[in-house]
Amino acid sequence: MTIASKFNHPVNGEVVNGMAQNGGDEAYYRPVRRFIGIKYSGPSGGDVFHEALHNLTGKGDTRLAEQLGIPGGRSQDINPILAKNDCIEKKQ
Ligand SMILES: [Zn+2]
Repeated sequence: MTIASKFNHPVNGEVVNGMAQNGGDEAYYRPVRRFIGIKYSGPSGGDVFHEALHNLTGKGDTRLAEQLGIPGGRSQDINPILAKNDCIEKKQ
């Protein structure tokens, strides 16, 4: 499976906006596209922070969610808890 293919296939019904090398220094993001000034695709600042945590901690989504207080959590559980704790901007 290529990195590009991961962006083209939703995981658990969620669009993949970013992925990172756990414990490494690589991260990849879906390109931001705008249509008449309205963002309709791409990573948020919170997504960039989320991927940076993978780089920094070396943890995958389940272990990172657990460290954030969500046992058995998934990728989509991480940004809401980061927003709740004012680590990233809350979605509009
Ligand atoms: Zn993640």
